[in-house]
Amino acid sequence: MLIVKKFGGTSVADKERIFNVAKRCIEDYKKGNDVVVVLSAMGKMTDVLIKQAKEINPNPPKRELDMLLTTGEQTSVALMSMALNSLGVPAISLNAFQVTMKTTSDYGNARLENIDSERIKHELENHKIVIVTGFQGINKYGDYTTLGRGGSDTTAVALAAALNADACEIYTDVDGVYTADPRIVKNARKLDEITYDEMLELATLGAGVLHNRSVEMAKKYGVQLVVRSSLNTTEGTIVKEEVEMEKMLVSGVACDRNTARIAVIGLEDQPGVAFKLFNHLARHNINVDIILQSVGRDGTKDISFTVPEDLVEEAVAILERHRTGSLKCQQINVEKNVAKVSIVGAGMMSNAGVAAKMFEALYDVGVNIKMISTSEIRVTVLINDKDVDKAMNSVHDKFIHS
Ligand code: ADP
Ligand code: ASP
Ligand code: MG
Repeated sequence: MLIVKKFGGTSVADKERIFNVAKRCIEDYKKGNDVVVVLSAMGKMTDVLIKQAKEINPNPPKRELDMLLTTGEQTSVALMSMALNSLGVPAISLNAFQVTMKTTSDYGNARLENIDSERIKHELENHKIVIVTGFQGINKYGDYTTLGRGGSDTTAVALAAALNADACEIYTDVDGVYTADPRIVKNARKLDEITYDEMLELATLGAGVLHNRSVEMAKKYGVQLVVRSSLNTTEGTIVKEEVEMEKMLVSGVACDRNTARIAVIGLEDQPGVAFKLFNHLARHNINVDIILQSVGRDGTKDISFTVPEDLVEEAVAILERHRTGSLKCQQINVEKNVAKVSIVGAGMMSNAGVAAKMFEALYDVGVNIKMISTSEIRVTVLINDKDVDKAMNSVHDKFIHS
């Protein structure tokens, strides 16, 4: 069997954890399997590097930031290879350049385009455990790129697809995918299985346990994932196309604190205004989520929408640039202390009253709703971020019984 095993930052945070991971890899190797290991940077290393960069330059060039961040993963793979070699098992570490893993050119948010699997296969034929840097790639200029925060999951799935692996295991610091972040919701329950579609929706709405692109890619290439703990041997959660269990009305609750609301007040009430506004943002790759337009009055209207908080300054700067030209308006307001809370479930599609029940759960704990958006399999509300914990617990317990 060829197994791809991915370990996140907490799982390789220190020497003891590195040896713990090494031993788990050796168990599979000794059974005669080919083992490819994908690692994240140690502990909170990526955060530390970002902080260091910002101390030097509050707005560092994106290329240089990626140059810096990729060193985190390079450190962990080298140390892991040293650990395996010290335990008498042949191993080799490879970075994105050595593999080669090609991406689009967008620094900080690149997409994997092509993986050359020859080098890895060659090393596996030589009976080595191959340890690959997660999160990074190389663009057409030969520069390092990164895949977005949490992107090592995507590296693992892409490698599993490219190598036609028999298993892709994502090891983390919780026992699997839960009905909500177990660090926030005390009654959260571990799921045995979840569909790609539900997992994709949860990941996109803030459930950081898997990078959303990794789920997208797993679905596209039919890579079955197992999410489990690196610290114990508890069975994890299987992410796959269809689940055997009866579909739950709501399979999970997610929150996203990386959210800000922009309100553009007093826009001209005429055709093309929304197009221009969102086109300016789209051209700069700024993802817009919940959108609300007011009823027109006296020839003007307001449009509010949410963007990721880490992009809000960039978004406002773009809008300000066009204020005197194609995008006349009276005011642009920003609110940062907001968060999204969402419920997700395939069973929602054919069930009326789900949204109302969610709003009741928020009313029960006195949480005010600022914006609402729904799709076939999700309902999202925007609330004050100080209310997230009580909102999550109340909504979770309304739908999911432990
Ligand atoms: P890693 O470094 O292993 O990639 P992450 O921090 O990226 O780990 O992801 C694991 C974390 O995801 C958990 O510690 C947990 O707090 C968070 N999380 C959010 N939503 C969920 C969920 N639905 N199920 C499990 N964990 C979740
Ligand atoms: N080290 C990167 C991050 O912290 C990638 C990852 O952990 O998946 O975002
Ligand atoms: Mg992660």
